[in-house]
Amino acid sequence: MLGLMQDWPLLMHKVVDHAAIQHPGREIISRSVEGPFHRTNYHEVRHRALRVAQRLERDGIRLGDRVATLAWNTWRHVEAWYGITGIGAIYHTVNPRLFPDQIAWILNHAASRVLMLDLTFIPLIQQLAPKLEHIERFIILTDGAHLPETGLRNAVAYEDWLAEADGDFAWMSFDEKTAAGLCYTSGTTGDPKGVLYSHRSNILHALAANQVDCLGLGVADRVMPVVPMFHANGWSLPISAPMAGATLILPGAKLDGASVHEIITAAGVNFSAAVPTVWMMLLQHMEATGTRIDTLKRVVIGGSACPAAITKTYQEKYGVRVIHAWGMTEMSPVGTTYQRKPEILGLDPEAALALQAKQGCPPFTVEMKITDDAGKDLPWSGEVFGRLKVRGPAITRNYFRREDEAVLDADGFFDTGDVATIDTNGFMEVTDRSKDVIKSGGEWISSIALENAAVGYPGVAEAAVVAMHDPKWDERPLMILVMKPGAAAPDLAAMNAFLADKVAKWWLPDDLVVVDEIPHTATGKILKTKLREAFKDHRPKG
Ligand code: ADP
Repeated sequence: MLGLMQDWPLLMHKVVDHAAIQHPGREIISRSVEGPFHRTNYHEVRHRALRVAQRLERDGIRLGDRVATLAWNTWRHVEAWYGITGIGAIYHTVNPRLFPDQIAWILNHAASRVLMLDLTFIPLIQQLAPKLEHIERFIILTDGAHLPETGLRNAVAYEDWLAEADGDFAWMSFDEKTAAGLCYTSGTTGDPKGVLYSHRSNILHALAANQVDCLGLGVADRVMPVVPMFHANGWSLPISAPMAGATLILPGAKLDGASVHEIITAAGVNFSAAVPTVWMMLLQHMEATGTRIDTLKRVVIGGSACPAAITKTYQEKYGVRVIHAWGMTEMSPVGTTYQRKPEILGLDPEAALALQAKQGCPPFTVEMKITDDAGKDLPWSGEVFGRLKVRGPAITRNYFRREDEAVLDADGFFDTGDVATIDTNGFMEVTDRSKDVIKSGGEWISSIALENAAVGYPGVAEAAVVAMHDPKWDERPLMILVMKPGAAAPDLAAMNAFLADKVAKWWLPDDLVVVDEIPHTATGKILKTKLREAFKDHRPKG
């Protein structure tokens, strides 16, 4: 027997409708790509999204078509997401930090028919345009006054294009399982893989993220996703913020410490989210200028492990609560967050900080387990490492246009490629990506644990640990450091003395080198493949 409740499909437009009806005047403040701050509200954004939908329809864009965006976080990008999905087309976010050839590959693989791009990316796209097989029209996210001569096929300024639609249009209705968004993983190994979100998965994920012990946005929050919308669905904030009726603040193209500080202060941001590098740059800026960020109350730090030193400084010096989060493109993306469970309250400050360095606990809708290589479940002891696997309604079951490749185990779990422990209170800790773990004499050493500890050494700006070949142990850790300007670098003995009470003795690095810069992936993670390549012949001296 079926229940007798209404069919109310979980569609993206319901979110912007709700925000516009319940919170019409709530602001969306952006740093525009043209320069000045721009202010609008949910009422206006909904109306403009309807015009986007109407205008795309007139251009012949239909259910299931891909409309790509190569854009920073601004109000135009947000209204584009809702407009595109409002006719059942699919927003396809493209990460501009990928190699140009990868960008062309992704746009061709997705067969996106339209590309909406910010002014910033015109030179890149001019270079790639001859290779883009499916793009019929380039829409530049600006007004006519700022549109340069581009030579791109059917190029038009977004505002001129939009002006041809009046918004007298009704959202289209379709099955909630219809595809809504497409985001490719960065493909540090092999071709990038397309993750295809549905309306239903986006809505369920945003509801889950809005649980109070997850990201928990509320109507009084002033939320700034520094994490770009092209990185893993913008961590769902362009959906969960309007769902909650929160004020949305969008940082545009400027993500350096000074610019992030400026917009936090100018717009009174109290909640923000970004990868650790952004928070490190902001700290360096504040330390160098003696400034503060007093409106900021909560920050989500994820995408890479957040070192305890950063958490401690934000919490103790700046009064900002750090929510360490883990997730991935394939998970929409939020998988776990630090949760203040009653079981763990009352820990001494050191132990509490160590617990916050773990990636945390899943919200309702995410199930997880750890297994050995044979797929056998491993205990939640906090000690045993295993492959971390997840399942839930906002987690990938297949990659786009690779539907014949099975990616789930027999019980429907997706292998995250991460290696983790889970403790008795359910806190998961990523010890490594499976390909980065250091296998020393058959035992595993966590490169992340070493990196996090090393960042606590005075003057260290960033640390990376990779395996170097060892004839006896097979692999041993090599530590690579970047120092803060003017700071003296430790030698191996000094670093190991510092690490001695933080990690097992046999984990201590066998060598240490100092470099000017550590390479990063397009999503801000340490590019271990490149480091391994650069140091493949490195052997400890003596
Ligand atoms: P990409 O692989 O394209 O850079 P993702 O954001 O999908 O983008 O990467 C997901 C991976 O990032 C996870 O599988 C995990 O290895 C890593 N990651 C994300 N958050 C954390 C975190 N808080 N701590 C450690 N690793 C993390």
